Amino acid sequence: MAGVAAVVVAGGRGLRAGGGLPKQYRTIGGVPAIRKTLQAFAAHPEVTLVQPVIHPDDLRLFCDAAKDLALCEPVPGGATRQASVFCGLKALAAAAPEIVLVHDAARPFASPALISRAIDAGRAGAAIPGIAVSDTVKLVNDAGQVVETLDRARLRTVQTPQAFVYTALLDAHGKAYAAGRDDFTDDAALAEWAGMPVGVFAGDPANIKLTTAEDFARAERDAVASLADVRTGNGYDVHAFTAGDHVWLGGVRIPHNYGVLGHSDADVALHALVDAVLGALAEGDIGTHFPPSDPQWRGASSDRFLAFAVDRVRQRGGIIAHLDVTIVCEAPRIGPHRDAIRTRIAEIAGITPDRVGLKATTSEKLGFIGRREGLVATATATVRLPWGAP
Ligand code: MG
Repeated sequence: MAGVAAVVVAGGRGLRAGGGLPKQYRTIGGVPAIRKTLQAFAAHPEVTLVQPVIHPDDLRLFCDAAKDLALCEPVPGGATRQASVFCGLKALAAAAPEIVLVHDAARPFASPALISRAIDAGRAGAAIPGIAVSDTVKLVNDAGQVVETLDRARLRTVQTPQAFVYTALLDAHGKAYAAGRDDFTDDAALAEWAGMPVGVFAGDPANIKLTTAEDFARAERDAVASLADVRTGNGYDVHAFTAGDHVWLGGVRIPHNYGVLGHSDADVALHALVDAVLGALAEGDIGTHFPPSDPQWRGASSDRFLAFAVDRVRQRGGIIAHLDVTIVCEAPRIGPHRDAIRTRIAEIAGITPDRVGLKATTSEKLGFIGRREGLVATATATVRLPWGAP
């Protein structure tokens, strides 16, 4: 028996936080909360195994959120948090770790130092992170009247990760199950019931449990504020009209009495946006990544080019803050399609349509645009990256 395993419980429905998703799958700064949580443990040098426990309905969400992380296969949880932890513990039976940490997926801010403290304290058998209470705490009766003022010096609010000797916690869960108890809301309570002494080590006030919509709003503000490397890129694209009956603009097919000549679908708006995003990253241009000489891009739908550029931003831990496009042509008229185009660009970029600007103008019948020989798009992308990252 060796090593440290972390059971991350993510079986809850947690719809109170809004967003139409179980809260652990909602994003913070563009990253699902559960991914941040899993990463915190997977990246810790002393943690050898990370065992997720999920709701069976969430397998698809989980696979998207946990993509490319080094984890054990997720196991389905039970009807209660306690049952879900037991499922996670049993899944680790073959690995038989020395220490097991139990952590809530909705706490994405567990620091490496906190995890290290948990591991050290857990070697004594059972230990939990606690925080001293700064408010005075009153015990009240059903009528809302104060019954007693508690001695706050002896009170602690308790977080996860909670740490245990693996075999001891597994035994305790087995006993609780056999006794028909399924109502323990944390593993410390179950361990206490089983007669284990439970120590308390220093928790971390930053290690909050995301519960309400306000928690997410605050976490989102903090996450975005940390993306302080704000960059702007611009892009320009031109294509010639040719025989045909439609043009693609911003991922929307617009009927027209001409088509557009180009290797891919010749969507000038998306091509300009791709260059704007790549420009903000200083990662070359659309031709670097999708050479026109490569036959695989012939007739390609340009939404994949923009999705690629946006993914580069995500891979660098950043977000797209804003996209703005100007289309210059005498025809077709863009106005009737403005909302459809903004919606489609937002969808491809994974942002809301209020972060996509779209303007259209003519060139007053001047030059090649005025002669209706072709059309142009310019674009600006504002990208936020973590400050100090390479
Ligand atoms: Mg182009």
